[in-house]
This record gives sequence, C-alpha cells and structure tokens, in this order.
Amino acid sequence: MKNELYSELRKQMVNDQIISRGIKTKKIIDAFINVPRHKFISNSYQYMAYDDHPLPIDNNQTISQPYMVALMTDQLDIQKTDKVLEIGTGSGYQTAILAYLANHVYTVELHEMLSIKAKQILDELEYKNIHYHIGNGYHGLNAYAPFDKIIVTAAPKQFPKELMSQLKESGKMIIPIGDSYLQQLFLVEKENTHFKKSFITYCRFVEMVNKD
Ligand code: SAH
Repeated sequence: MKNELYSELRKQMVNDQIISRGIKTKKIIDAFINVPRHKFISNSYQYMAYDDHPLPIDNNQTISQPYMVALMTDQLDIQKTDKVLEIGTGSGYQTAILAYLANHVYTVELHEMLSIKAKQILDELEYKNIHYHIGNGYHGLNAYAPFDKIIVTAAPKQFPKELMSQLKESGKMIIPIGDSYLQQLFLVEKENTHFKKSFITYCRFVEMVNKD
C-alpha cells in the first residue's frame, strides 16, 4: 500500500513540478517516474519525499529539489552511451537518475558515510552501472577521464579548472557557481578546446568543500 501511495505521489510530482515547468524530454520523465525518491530519504522526512523542495540528509547536506535534479539532467542531454561524472553523491538520488539514463556513471563524494549509505540503497535497487569514489571532487577522476558529461551538485566559488579539463571535446557540464547564499547555475560546453558558458538560472546548493 505504501509503495502504491508513493507511486501516486511520484506521478503528481512529475506532472506538477517537472512537466508543468517545461521539461518535456520523454526519457527524463520516465527516469523520474521510475526512481523511488522516498527510498533516498530518512524515515522522519519520507512523507515529504515528493514535495517541491530540498530535504535534509546526513552530514548537514541536502537532497536537491526534484525540479532542480530534472532541470540539470535535462540540460546535459544524456545519451545511453555517455560516460557521466557526478560530483556530490549525497543521498544517491541524482546518481540513480543518471544511471537510469547512461551506461556508465562515476560518482564522487567527500563524506565516506554518505557514499556508503548511497551505495547500499542503489545496490538494493539493483543499479549495476555506478562506480563509487570517496574523495575531493575538485580533482575529478583523472584515471577515468575524459567524460561526456559532468554534473556538480555542490557549489564552488569559481569554475573548477582541474574538473573542467576532464570534459571530452563537445562534452557538457552543469554546475552551480557562487557563495553560500546565492549561486548561478551554468551549462559549460567544450568547443574546440574553448569553454562556452551559458547562464541557466539562480539556485542554492551546499558549498563544495575544498579539502584534501
Ligand atoms: N546529488 C545529491 C546532492 C547532495 S548535496 C542528492 O541529490 O542527494 C551535495 C553533496 O556534495 C554533499 O553530499 C556533499 O558532501 C558533497 N560535497 C561537497 N563538497 C564536495 C567535494 N569537494 N567533493 C565531493 N563531494 C562534495
């Protein structure tokens, strides 16, 4: 019964928060219908899993608002054959959406505890195409570079050069940039070794911590 209720709430979330705000890509909509967001949220907040806002997870971090996850994913134009790098595994929800769309997902998280917990949930949901790494995302994952797409779900103050250098030619990266109060979401496209940056919207993410 509980799962049926959540599945109903999920359909409403997709209609009211995602489609109605202009996201029309069929495979993105399918991903959001399929991935059980409530499984990534602790019991005490689970009843709000499909509401139109971010929610707290462990280590003072947050799971992003559903629409923000959809908007960022849509901007990346993910293809099945893409190799995707995610910085900030957090709850693992965005990771699941990426793994639904692309064959190879690499995800990096600073906090070991969050990475382990996200892996547990994603293993239970039987995702087999996710590679988990614990570390400082400013360095990306050089051993697996270059990536077709990169998504950053914590905000640095400036564009992170080392990470951008791991983008494939014609690759796309979506990233919030700014201080802890207000940030700007940018789409970065690598064209002839040049980075074209387009402003998408204002947003608010947790800080991308720079510590080795
Ligand atoms: N995509 C996640 C968002 C989590 S919030 C979700 O939907 O649940 C951002 C995450 O980035 C946090 O888990 C935080 O610990 C992580 N983070 C912050 N700075 C980081 C860094 N330098 N490298 C890797 N992860 C980082």
